[in-house]
Parts: sequence; structure tokens; C-alpha cells
Amino acid sequence: MSGNNSSSTVFGSSSMAKSRLVCYCGVESPLVTAWTDENPGRRFHGCGKYFQRRKCSFFRWFDPEVPERRKKLIRGLLKKNDAMKKKEKKLEFTIVVLGMLLFLSLFVIFIKLGMM
Ligand SMILES: [Zn+2]
Repeated sequence: MSGNNSSSTVFGSSSMAKSRLVCYCGVESPLVTAWTDENPGRRFHGCGKYFQRRKCSFFRWFDPEVPERRKKLIRGLLKKNDAMKKKEKKLEFTIVVLGMLLFLSLFVIFIKLGMM
């Protein structure tokens, strides 16, 4: 196989100097974070060619199993995060609308003043 150092960009995370694992392909196995409902935030080592066609079945959990309590907590946090983002967007929209209204009323006032 050739080009075995193209995987690091795929995963986006750079610093995995501490734990170096090599999958069955002989490629350095990156640490990936799972975001499934069953294992939210749990990291695992997968095949270094995970997103390519010729991947092997290498799989090893890095973090211990996520306790049910923590799963719930993480899910809740993720939901909260989502809600906050939505709120932020609403606020942004409100500010834009208010700004436009202010501009409009100033415009009207100026026109009226100009007519006098
Ligand atoms: Zn592999």
C-alpha cells in the first residue's frame, strides 16, 4: 500500500502522541470520538484507513465503558448546547430586526424634519 500518511487530516485531531497503536493495515490507528447514543463521547482506536475503502476490522476502546449516568448527562448537555445555539440565533435575528427598525424610524424622522 502507498500513501499511508494521509489519514491524519481526515480525522482533524493532531496530537495523539501518547498512545500509538497500529491497526492490521500497519497504519497508525487514530483516536476517534464516538458520538453514538450508546457511547457518547467515548473514544476508540479504529483502523487508520477508517474512511477509505480498504479498511480492516481493527477496533479498540480507549476510554472505559460510559456509565449510564454519564451517558444521560452527556446527552443532556448536548441537547442544552443545541438549545443554546438556537436561542443565540433567535437573539441575533432580534438584534438585526431591532436595528432595522431603529434605522427606519430615524429615516422617517429625518424625512419629517427635512419637510418642515
Ligand atoms: Zn486498518
